[in-house]
Amino acid sequence: MKEEFTDVLILGPGLVGMATLIALEKYTINTALLLDSKITKNRAQDPRFYTITPGVKKWFEENDIWTFLSKKSVSIVKTIMVYSGKENTSLKFDAYDAGINELAFIVSHDDLEKAFIDRLAKINYKEIKTNKLESLTAGINDISLVYGNDKKHKFKLVIGADGSNSWVRTQSSIHFKSKNFDQTAIVFNIKNSKAHQGCAYQKFMHHGILALLPVNKDEFAVVFSLNNNIVDDYRNLDDAMFIQKLKDEMCEMFSDIILLTRRQYFPLEMKINESLISDRVLLIGDAAHQIHPLAGQGLNLGLRDVIELDKLLYSNKKYHHDLGLKYFLKKYNRIRKTDILSFSYLTEQLSYLFSSKNHMVNLLVNFGLNKINQNQLIKKNLIRKAIH
Ligand SMILES: Cc1cc2nc3c(=O)[nH]c(=O)nc-3n(C[C@H](O)[C@H](O)[C@H](O)COP(=O)(O)OP(=O)(O)OC[C@H]3O[C@@H](n4cnc5c(N)ncnc54)[C@H](O)[C@@H]3O)c2cc1C
Repeated sequence: MKEEFTDVLILGPGLVGMATLIALEKYTINTALLLDSKITKNRAQDPRFYTITPGVKKWFEENDIWTFLSKKSVSIVKTIMVYSGKENTSLKFDAYDAGINELAFIVSHDDLEKAFIDRLAKINYKEIKTNKLESLTAGINDISLVYGNDKKHKFKLVIGADGSNSWVRTQSSIHFKSKNFDQTAIVFNIKNSKAHQGCAYQKFMHHGILALLPVNKDEFAVVFSLNNNIVDDYRNLDDAMFIQKLKDEMCEMFSDIILLTRRQYFPLEMKINESLISDRVLLIGDAAHQIHPLAGQGLNLGLRDVIELDKLLYSNKKYHHDLGLKYFLKKYNRIRKTDILSFSYLTEQLSYLFSSKNHMVNLLVNFGLNKINQNQLIKKNLIRKAIH
């Protein structure tokens, strides 16, 4: 059996995996990226648009990623309007009121992926292509990956960036708790008759959550998370009827809309890992946590894993010779725990609270929203927490 050695393996070439590669390259750590040869050949278009927080954008700028995005492909969110249920309680978050320039940036998955691929063309790393992963076995001094037709590659550390059904997590016996939200997200784009002026909308209803992200001048990328017991009612509608139903759900501002793309469906689930690390293994991105997309934070959370790993690498140069050492891995696990758990539970609780049919819960939610809306200080604090 032919045997090779590289310091670190990143398994999974998603957005978070590519960001990790860029972070490691700064410290001249010898790194390999494993790509599934089948998936990369048939890379499909992804309909998702992401909200990127100002904190993550800053890291993109510092790491020369933002320059690979054209101005045209980035939209700015200046205001967020949140509506709750039938009572039509609303909450307004405004960048100007909070003393900042923007609340978030919107970029399509495909534009962001292209920017990462262009950025990676400027750095040195090894590519391993295979669609046959056999085993991952941690030893005292290294970890061995067997793949392809009996090829063996040893590393000091394997970083699992292979998404929510992570193979690395399974191989390392890291346990996780999962919660099926019993919801499906319908993703599509619409064009409105009025310019959006950088305003995003979110409407919480008993049967689902409607999120509209402003893109271009008068277009929105929509994520409509619907309870599974009614999702087929929407799936079976033709485009004209679907748009009519959507208009009925939205406020008057959306009385004249057209559908720009086909509708695509994503089942929604939450996964919380018991640990982000195992022997010579570290998980990152959706492999480490999967959350409800209602707050548009899943990718940001994964990129914050990378940003914190970057900071650890900067301040712990003595571990660069062996990043698989327990002490270093434990630091990463400890540093990421609070952010991950608080966002996982926050999105879970919001999804529960707003979908509740309990009259008392509804009264409390509306009371709370009104109180927050009247209090600039609470709103400022919420914004400050959300933009890091
Ligand atoms: C409908 C919807 C809307 C969303 N909107 C937002 C938003 O607005 N803002 C936001 O921050 N987040 C959002 N998210 C969350 C976001 O999409 C994810 O958090 C993010 O894409 C995770 O990136 P990742 O790189 O960790 O994982 P993935 O994107 O899953 O990438 C994993 C990579 O690993 C590869 N891989 C998997 N297994 C193997 C294997 N065995 N061998 C080799 N390669 C492998 C995959 O092909 C893929 O390239 C949304 C999610 C959904 C479902």
